[in-house]
Amino acid sequence: MTLAWIILIHVAAAVGLVLLPLPGWIVIGVAAGLLVLGGMGTTIAYHRSLTHRSVTLHPVIKHLLIFFAMFNGSGTPAHWVADHRHHHAMADKPGDISSPRDGFWWAHLRWLWQARRDDSGRFCQDMDTSGYRWWQRLQVPLLALALIGGLALVPWIGWAAALAAALWLGPIRLLVALHTQCTVNSVCHLGSLGSEHGSARNVWWLSVLHLGLGENWHGNHHKRQNSPRLGYGRAQVDLGWWVIRLLAWCGLATQVKATGSMRDARLPATVRQPRFVTSVAQGLRAAWRLALHGYLSVFRPNPA
Ligand SMILES: [Zn+2]
Ligand SMILES: [Zn+2]
Repeated sequence: MTLAWIILIHVAAAVGLVLLPLPGWIVIGVAAGLLVLGGMGTTIAYHRSLTHRSVTLHPVIKHLLIFFAMFNGSGTPAHWVADHRHHHAMADKPGDISSPRDGFWWAHLRWLWQARRDDSGRFCQDMDTSGYRWWQRLQVPLLALALIGGLALVPWIGWAAALAAALWLGPIRLLVALHTQCTVNSVCHLGSLGSEHGSARNVWWLSVLHLGLGENWHGNHHKRQNSPRLGYGRAQVDLGWWVIRLLAWCGLATQVKATGSMRDARLPATVRQPRFVTSVAQGLRAAWRLALHGYLSVFRPNPA
């Protein structure tokens, strides 16, 4: 099924690029927006929060990000987490499901449908809950919606524009998302196997393809797997980390991990700013949290 899906989006994307190479700025903008949201779903929710537990997300934010990751073709959270923990547990050793030891194309694509996965469930036992299981049931409808959902716009924008929207928001976007994610296992694992942390490396030019979200700093990540931060210093853009900081500021992300030697991965404890700015900021933050938790309490079950 995975191979059939990969072939389908490649063929449909090729047809789209030949027939409708210029879909207009609005369609390109929406496709880019979905890629950013899907990328945030993968790097913040799937990778940093669910796999490595380096940050705890508010359930509303977590499930919203899972939706965008699945709409981006990243698969279900349980499968993604199991595969990624498997990769870290055996990185560059026999048993690593996506190591370039078995060739570039194995690491880039082939492992997705050919790797022998661990079916004991030991890599994702904590994901075997009803909260994640129902994403499994939603996978096929969500993929169908992602692939051809643009056609639903026919009554409003006509057949020609809806077809362009369907192809660019569907297979072309999904193709870009697929190969972007695949570069983490292939291009970002072409370092020297003899080095201390294996073949994982940082690849600065992949920042463009990853839209600055930070997954291209994969060498840093293998050195500090439990850090919620992937890029360090000003040169290594890591928007995923900045979104986590923003969510933490809003009270929507907690338990942001800091690892011993990594002072700059902590939330800034002391930010030098005038006292009145601090007071106003604290007041705004308190008001925001009060309003947000009041709003979210609507979704809690009635204790009566
Ligand atoms: Zn890796
Ligand atoms: Zn990881």
